[in-house]
Amino acid sequence: MPMYEFRCPSCGSLTTELCKLGENGESLSCPGCGHKGLAKKISKFSSPGVKGSSGGTCSPGCHGNCSGCH
Ligand SMILES: [Zn+2]
Repeated sequence: MPMYEFRCPSCGSLTTELCKLGENGESLSCPGCGHKGLAKKISKFSSPGVKGSSGGTCSPGCHGNCSGCH
């Protein structure tokens, strides 16, 4: 299952939850203040400007081996 970060709109605390794909946080409660319904944070995968060490620079078909692409 994927992990998502949720932010409590009431107290602002962050919580990381393992939840099923498509979970939007409406059914989750804040562990800090008990507020029902958390706001899902944008996942790291879609953050702009951060290039990881894998992916992005490899040619198609490299599969992380990189022996032939750079
Ligand atoms: Zn809270």
